[in-house]
Amino acid sequence: MKGKNNAMSRIGTDCVHGGYTPKNGEPRQIPIIQSTTFKYDSSEDMGRLFDLEASGYFYSRLQNPTNDYVAARICALEGGSAAMLTASGQAANFFAVFNLCGAGDHVVCSSAIYGGTYNLFNVTMRKMGIDFTFVTPDCPDETLKAAFRPNTKAVFGETISNPSLAVLDLERFAKAAHDHGVPIIIDNTFPTPVNCRPIEWGVDIVTHSTTKYMDGHASGVGGALVDAGRFDWFAHAAKFPGLTTPDESYHGLVYAERFGLGGAFITKATAQLMRDFGAAPSPHNSYLVGLGLESLQVRMERHCKNAQAVAEFLEKHERIAWVNYCGLPANRYYALARKLMPNGSCGVISFGVRGGRAAAEVFMKALRVAIIATHVADARTCVLHPANATHRQLSEDALISAGVPGDLVRLSVGIEDAADIIEDLDQALFFVR
Ligand SMILES: *Cc1c(COP(=O)(O)O)cnc(C)c1O
Repeated sequence: MKGKNNAMSRIGTDCVHGGYTPKNGEPRQIPIIQSTTFKYDSSEDMGRLFDLEASGYFYSRLQNPTNDYVAARICALEGGSAAMLTASGQAANFFAVFNLCGAGDHVVCSSAIYGGTYNLFNVTMRKMGIDFTFVTPDCPDETLKAAFRPNTKAVFGETISNPSLAVLDLERFAKAAHDHGVPIIIDNTFPTPVNCRPIEWGVDIVTHSTTKYMDGHASGVGGALVDAGRFDWFAHAAKFPGLTTPDESYHGLVYAERFGLGGAFITKATAQLMRDFGAAPSPHNSYLVGLGLESLQVRMERHCKNAQAVAEFLEKHERIAWVNYCGLPANRYYALARKLMPNGSCGVISFGVRGGRAAAEVFMKALRVAIIATHVADARTCVLHPANATHRQLSEDALISAGVPGDLVRLSVGIEDAADIIEDLDQALFFVR
């Protein structure tokens, strides 16, 4: 879906109005078009849609109006040229990479990424013949440069990594990608466009797990891809034949020619990947994402304010071994975070409880406000021990390289009253000996 009203200026306004402008007498709220199919008067009309010669809806696996309104809102928020929704964040990251790569290709990837993404890349996509070189976000320039190969097709990273909370130097990684003639894909789930707009730092493709702050209420799993529309596929035509040579499944159409730099990437991902893999979101789930987006700016402000207060409390607590939050001046990413995210980063903090794994478990059991959940980034404060949950499949070495030591507790600070969250942590820490 092309971003229609990028002209709207400020982020809080786009959260509420972006992507959907009802005409006279039309529904005020984004309508849920809960229909698999769309009716046409003639098969010629329908044929033109199938051939991508006309734009319109015919089957909700490929496109649906509700999904497109919400995609256009996210597109406006990120300042992109086109966007699409997927059924999950996993599908969004898979599509982003697989839209550029095939068997025999290679991707340079930050090692500090979500466990599910690491598994997707390092296990499943390797089985498809795509190779990955992982570099730490803080690696020297020479190491980053040395990771590229002639068959490298993309760079991938997370603005703020889940759960290790490393902040990626977007400008440095974007420059390395562009120096090697490839685009950079950034998963911007944690800061959201309210706190960081990667496209403004040179990023080409932005992905999201909308499951997190965008939905904001733990109500639906979803994902999104946004294209900045700036990467010149023709300047590196030999690397990206999928965008610059004819697609025989659409009568020899060339995506970058027909849809331009602004539309090629998302149209290809819709026409090929959504068509073939079918990771389409339900219109009802997309509606919930749209609803969540309306309050995104207000919620992010509160998440960040609460997280800052909680991080400062934990940092001073005698039973806490260490705290990782880029809003703390002692944090190694403080300066970079101030530059990329001057209004705040996200509501997720990680820390170690004195006494390691066992102590962390005692502490977590005693919590009352914060609940144990395999989730982050919704209105309710929740807590997780990644080494026992999301990162279970990782070896000890991979855990260290992903920045997730065994004693790490991930705390997603919600939008409750900060004083209640802090009191809860304090009473639970009392049980740690
Ligand atoms: C949760 C998450 C994902 C995966 O998204 P799902 O919606 O769970 O499929 C990808 N990246 C990041 C940074 C995440 O936090």
